[in-house]
Amino acid sequence: MRFREPGVWSAPSSVSILVLDAGGTPRRWIGVEEAVGYYYKRQVAWDLGDHAFTLHGGICRATGERSSLTLRSIVAVRGDSSRRARFEHTPALTREMLFARDRFVCAYCGTRHRAADLTAEHVQPQSRGGRDTWTNLVSACKPCNLRKGDRTPEQARMPLLYVPYVPSLHEAFILRNRRILADQMEFLMAGVPPNSRLHAGDGALHA
Ligand SMILES: [Zn+2]
Repeated sequence: MRFREPGVWSAPSSVSILVLDAGGTPRRWIGVEEAVGYYYKRQVAWDLGDHAFTLHGGICRATGERSSLTLRSIVAVRGDSSRRARFEHTPALTREMLFARDRFVCAYCGTRHRAADLTAEHVQPQSRGGRDTWTNLVSACKPCNLRKGDRTPEQARMPLLYVPYVPSLHEAFILRNRRILADQMEFLMAGVPPNSRLHAGDGALHA
């Protein structure tokens, strides 16, 4: 089968497929093309999701029929457990994920901003040993960041409106994908702890 012929794709290239290990633990977001490889190599243990994409390949010379393959939005792959160790660590911190965790709301004034107008603000200032960690960083608008300056929230009399926390594995997968499909969201939300801000459900996960 050939999947690279021009004009034969019917799945949008912007879609990401959620890869799980065979035990159901989220592993990676991958593109449709890479997911096709898993089906082709018969490494798919099981798949699920409401979204199914049918890709059409080339014409088979022997039968004259066009090949096709249907893949789904969530794919469990065999033999992916060797990567387990790196997923038990804290999810990598990026500005985009930090703002998504905080739902683009400034921790000091409570107003929502576009990502371009937010800063990653150190609760304990760096000059006082504050680190670049999930629990020491919050999203802050530029005026609040300036006003707080090189002080702690207590010194600046700017109490935090929410407590910064380390996202769980499932939550990190949600924060990382801007174009998450409804069925992928549903699957991942089932693994998000009840105290997560994601359960607030105001639909503003991404700016
Ligand atoms: Zn603010």
